[in-house]
Amino acid sequence: MNPTLEIFSQGEEIVTGQTVDTNAAWLSQKAVACGFTVTRHTAVGDKLDDLIVLLQDISQRADCCICTGGLGPTSDDLTAEAVAYAFNMPLEFDEIAFEQISRFFAQRNRAMPESNRKQAMLPQGAERIDNEWGTAPGFSLTYGRCWFAFLPGVPLEMKHLFQDRVLPKLSIRFLLQPGQLITIKTLGLGESAIQERINSIEIPAQVQLGFRAGADDVQTKLLFPFDYPETAISTLVAMIANQLGDYVFAIDGMGEITGDLAFEIDKLMTIGNSHTLAVLETASQGLLAAKCVGSEWLISAIYEQSTARLGQNLIAEANTEYLITTAKAIAVDIQKTSGADFVLVQLYAGNNKTLHDKDKSIVLYNILLTGNNFYQSIHSIAGPIKRKQNQAALMTLDLLRRYLQHKAMNH
Ligand code: ATP
Ligand code: MG
Repeated sequence: MNPTLEIFSQGEEIVTGQTVDTNAAWLSQKAVACGFTVTRHTAVGDKLDDLIVLLQDISQRADCCICTGGLGPTSDDLTAEAVAYAFNMPLEFDEIAFEQISRFFAQRNRAMPESNRKQAMLPQGAERIDNEWGTAPGFSLTYGRCWFAFLPGVPLEMKHLFQDRVLPKLSIRFLLQPGQLITIKTLGLGESAIQERINSIEIPAQVQLGFRAGADDVQTKLLFPFDYPETAISTLVAMIANQLGDYVFAIDGMGEITGDLAFEIDKLMTIGNSHTLAVLETASQGLLAAKCVGSEWLISAIYEQSTARLGQNLIAEANTEYLITTAKAIAVDIQKTSGADFVLVQLYAGNNKTLHDKDKSIVLYNILLTGNNFYQSIHSIAGPIKRKQNQAALMTLDLLRRYLQHKAMNH
């Protein structure tokens, strides 16, 4: 059984929602990755009594607790004081902590406000966690069954201290056996469609299966126990990937570095002889090009709304055959003028109004031209304009991704 870990964020601004608790999210991922079972997140405002009760509760029920925030010099920074009461560890002046804080101010040519002296007061018996990234040191201690680490709230400082000072202590203190997380990323299939496709595969009870649908992909997640045989992992992942076919654009956790769709296309566009791409986009309104920002291979990107090139209102009125034929003609045209190896053309049936109406769908027509060959895809896209725009960009790019992936596999 994995040791349990709780995360506790201190600050009125967290409880009231003015600051999003990114510390807890970041720490959770780290904790899970190194083999803890994260059982709870709690946020408490600037209430000394609540803090004391929470600390005492955690000391009874968790093996480890990481607490962030409330170590500053101001009167709303109550963590050390709460610890002192909760665990009967009165605050003591820490000479070395004080020197570090003084040095921090001296290095910046600033006079140290008297209030910062407070940050050198640490609970008696706690171990100081030096902080070269800010003023307040953190500290750690054991109480009840729980090992606690208290870190500053400022995310940059917290991350440094966790990586450099806390992680090494955790691996000594706990028997950590991280599981292996595999993420299969797909585009174009919903969670239920994925579930249906993989229903025939038996997932062993020790393997945790989960899904996460985001704006840019749908992820099928498999968490294997640390001692699960490598070959059995590969076999199961391959079986699932096989069922999902070429909806899969990346598999994370199998050794290769993976990213989002644009990242994967970038890999495919730059292996061997690198290629060039020219695009014409409509419904995605520039987002397709934006997703490829920084790439050297996107040599031309045109956004057209309905436009002279396409004929007045052509997009609104045209039927499938006409749109496909037009898209092909545009692709040939762009191929000539741009000289790109690949040309993507995106048209849609609908108009600006349909695009804006969240209750109406558009039908997207994508053409890919490579040399003399055309490839096409047709998708119906629903929802608010932002979603349509994003899906359109993804679906058009995905046509290229599929082509490139097939090509790479057949070589
Ligand atoms: P300081 O010395 O800066 O006062 P501190 O340890 O007292 O550090 P807080 O005062 O609680 O930390 O928070 C400092 C800043 O760090 C907050 O204003 C906020 O911007 C950010 N912060 C604090 N807690 C979190 C959190 N859980 N998630 C994200 N950001 C946070
Ligand atoms: Mg503070």
